[in-house]
Amino acid sequence: MTDWPSLIRDIPDFPKPGIVFKDITPVLADADGFAAAIATMAAPWHAAPPAAFVGIEARGFIFAAALAQALHTGFVPVRKPGKLPARTQVHDYALEYGSDRLEIHADALPAGARVVLVDDVLATGGTLRAALALCRRIGCDVVGASVLVELQALDGRAAWGADVPLHAALRG
Ligand code: AMP
Repeated sequence: MTDWPSLIRDIPDFPKPGIVFKDITPVLADADGFAAAIATMAAPWHAAPPAAFVGIEARGFIFAAALAQALHTGFVPVRKPGKLPARTQVHDYALEYGSDRLEIHADALPAGARVVLVDDVLATGGTLRAALALCRRIGCDVVGASVLVELQALDGRAAWGADVPLHAALRG
């Protein structure tokens, strides 16, 4: 299998000084690398695929949509404010400085639908926790979460808690 982790590159001081940004675009640009990364992310969900993978804007869309195709499930977007056209549920959450908001279509899935949350990078875990709260608010059964890369130093896994399985294709 292609060594897709070696395709991820560190970009220092982006988007601001002190942040080391994990640039996953070279993985996407490599046909074998992209396929291998998706195969790794899909593996935990083969046995019991969810009704949908829920992708978090923007890079989460890429992985969630590819997983949905790989496992023949639906795809549902969680978006930044003001982007979704129909009625939404919103969730506000605190950032280190300030706050942010995510939205999901209120009727995106029937109540009780099993979903897996997807993003590219797990850092502090705030984004994934916000998506968890949103999906629960529309009645979904969140059975797991999948990220391509977990930044272990930031301890997002501890903040995530233990009741919903969290799978990281790469821990670094
Ligand atoms: P957090 O809410 O702190 O877990 O941050 C996760 C979100 O921010 C994800 O949507 C990531 O795409 C993005 N993110 C945070 N830190 C990084 C990083 N070092 N490199 C790339 N993306 C990041």
